[in-house]
Formats: sequence, C-alpha cells, structure tokens
Amino acid sequence: MKLMIMGPPGAGKGTQAEVLVKELNITHISTGDMFRAAIKEGTEMGKKAKEYMDKGQLVPDEVVVGMVKDRLSQPDCEKGFLLDGFPRTIAQAEALSKTLDEMGIKLDGVINIEVPREKLLARLTGRRVCKSCGASYHVLFNPPEKEGVCNNCGGELYQRSDDNEETVNNRLDVYEEQTQPLIDYYKEKGLLININGDQPIDKVLADILAALRK
Ligand SMILES: [Zn+2]
Repeated sequence: MKLMIMGPPGAGKGTQAEVLVKELNITHISTGDMFRAAIKEGTEMGKKAKEYMDKGQLVPDEVVVGMVKDRLSQPDCEKGFLLDGFPRTIAQAEALSKTLDEMGIKLDGVINIEVPREKLLARLTGRRVCKSCGASYHVLFNPPEKEGVCNNCGGELYQRSDDNEETVNNRLDVYEEQTQPLIDYYKEKGLLININGDQPIDKVLADILAALRK
C-alpha cells in the first residue's frame, strides 16, 4: 500500500504511523528523518538542502520533492510506504503528484486523523513540569499524585509558556489554515480517508485498517 498520513498536533499521528507501518509491513517515510538522512549521507539533494539550511533559508519545494523522489526510489519502498509530514502545501502536493506520475506510483489513500479542537486543546495544554527537578506530568494522561506537586521531589509544577491555551490555539489555527486546502485537494482526487482520532489508539488503528480494506 502506498499511503500518506495527516493530522493536527496532538491527534496521535506519530503513534498511528508507527503501528500502521508495522501492521502493513510498509516503509515509514517521515520527512524530518529523511532530511537528516539525506544530509548525513551527502546525497545531491541533501547537499542542496543543507546549503539553504546553513543560510537559514527555507528549503525550496523542488529540493524537498527531489529528496522524496530519491527516497521513494529506494528498494524498501517497493513493498509500499507511508508518507508522513509531507506535503504541507498545495504547491508541494502538486509537485509530488507530478513526481509520483513520472515514477508510475499511484497513491492508495490519504489518511486524515480528525480530533475535535477542544480535545486537542486538552491534550496539548495538559503538560506540567516540575520547577525543581524538571519531571514532566500530564493532567489527563500522567497526573501527579497531588495536584500541582511533583511526586519525586515535592516541587511546584507549572505550565510552560508554549503549552498555554493561546499558543496552542495559534498552532492549531496555523495547522488548519495550511492543511484545509490539502484536505480539499485529496478529497477531490477521491483519496481522502477521514478517521475519528478521538478514540483509544487501537480503535483508531482498527478504523484505519477497515477503511483501507474497502
Ligand atoms: Zn520535582
């Protein structure tokens, strides 16, 4: 299967990607990892990307798509792959579509994990960190024994500024703004598979697998 996965911060996309590639025995292509590998191996595209990054500039789409193309040409992608973290814009999606056509690769689906905004907010603002020892808690998933107090050292727990509601709301706004056009794009192509991400991890996976079997 040749797939792509999308989802907002806090939707559990990373976790689903990990279990899904194992379940389907396909190759996980995370763009972040791919970047690091291409630069480390010093591939032509990796060198180009590094030039831009060293200058503090954004890596142009043609270079990113070139790296994805190099990666998809490797033998471990023949059995199938899951693209994760790319594309992020319509221009990238169009460039990718052209590249896939040239390579004779047809996408089987684009998995879109949906979670209501208020649930994402609760997940993303729940982290609490100890002022004294740096231990990390989550009010929903890993609460301290006593509210506001560190289990380890009795220190005071606080919320980091990048976990506050305003910052998180901004992140989610940026994601939505950037991604909605992509969702429309893949819906029009008949590739979009919407999955309810507001469920336990194994149920989300089961829903994805059921949708892919159709
Ligand atoms: Zn502590």
